[in-house]
Amino acid sequence: EATAIDALAGVVAFDPATASIDDFPEAAAIDARLREFSDLGVPNPYFRKHQGLLTSTTTVGGRQYLSFSSYNYLGLSGHPAVTAAVHDAVERYGTSVSGSRLLAGDRDLTRQLETELATFLGTDDCLALVSGHATNVSAIGHLVGPGDLIVHDSLAHDSILQGCTLSGATRRPFPHNDVAQLEDILRRTRARFRRVLIVVEGAYSMDGDLADLPGLIDVKKRYGALLMVDEAHSIGTVGAGGAGVGEHFAVERSDVDLWMGTLSKSLAGCGGYLAGSSRTVQWLRYSLPGFVYSVGLTPASAAASLAALRVLRTEPSRLARLRENAVSFLQLAQAAGLPTGSASATPIVPCVIGDSTTTLRLAGTLYDRGIIVDPILHPAVDESQTRLRFFLTSDHEPAQLEYTTTTVAAELARLRA
Ligand code: PMP
Repeated sequence: EATAIDALAGVVAFDPATASIDDFPEAAAIDARLREFSDLGVPNPYFRKHQGLLTSTTTVGGRQYLSFSSYNYLGLSGHPAVTAAVHDAVERYGTSVSGSRLLAGDRDLTRQLETELATFLGTDDCLALVSGHATNVSAIGHLVGPGDLIVHDSLAHDSILQGCTLSGATRRPFPHNDVAQLEDILRRTRARFRRVLIVVEGAYSMDGDLADLPGLIDVKKRYGALLMVDEAHSIGTVGAGGAGVGEHFAVERSDVDLWMGTLSKSLAGCGGYLAGSSRTVQWLRYSLPGFVYSVGLTPASAAASLAALRVLRTEPSRLARLRENAVSFLQLAQAAGLPTGSASATPIVPCVIGDSTTTLRLAGTLYDRGIIVDPILHPAVDESQTRLRFFLTSDHEPAQLEYTTTTVAAELARLRA
């Protein structure tokens, strides 16, 4: 045991609790959460094993469920043209590109994906990376550093927050979608920093609302700041042709310095992209650590997202159905008295419950009634904001939406009675 003499002598006491990862309190917190499931008598909602394709329905443990927990928004993971393109790519290029694209060379397929994505987004060029999360972490850490300022929406995704921490820049969140508060921060602090980066999401993955893009562009121009928009949930879902919030708000695409998005949602693959001017993308292509020092996209993933992008454009009825489902689910949920917060114009609809226990119980009873929906608990959101988060897809049927909203309202009323 350490004594006062040891402390004076600068001897650091051996603390057995920090000598093993197994003894970390953070690890014990997971035990506590898992015990909570059994104490409440609810099934563990995590790591369920799907026995086939996950779209608007899924099979778990031999039973069919309605699913609202996948962001396979347009049903393109599982589309025959996408599957066939993946088969061809694997036959031709194998299962890995086996090196960084910078050194080990490129494939036509990956470049094709990047140029078609850039055309779709209305930018000069685009760079694809193996992970959406790593794309944000690496890009933000690369754009700014100590002496710089990042101002981000308070609901920004974990990958944005991790990028902020890695960058060493000063970080200031502004209240969700509050452009006036953002401007206030910039008015007070702009002069003290070299570069200023504003980071927002196109569509927010917890609340299902859109960024005020025109307002953000106005502020960024007046304060000499850079603007980065994460379109993980808006690409393929928002805008008349699914090209995201740039299309939705009809802004000059070059007014956003860096468009970021993921290949893992509407685009039926795995990875992230960064799109912008030729010079910006060239700089990233030759220097971005998460790209240069990481393996290139697998042929299967590049082929899946390229084929998905093409189907998205040739089968516009998918986007139309997704939109109808999103509007109709929101209307049904509101008519049933469910608290849907600020959701609008996206296929993400929250039902804000405001305490973890009721949220978990509700997800558990819905599971018994054949509905899978994600409970979003603290610390992913504040305890007062715990919720069920519904992802709609183009494959959901009107009767399924009606059954779900009615069942959620009835079960919530029963739990609160
Ligand atoms: N940004 C946002 C807004 C996200 O919601 C996610 C994850 N769903 C990511 C980035 C990370 O993307 P990926 O899961 O493709 O790594």
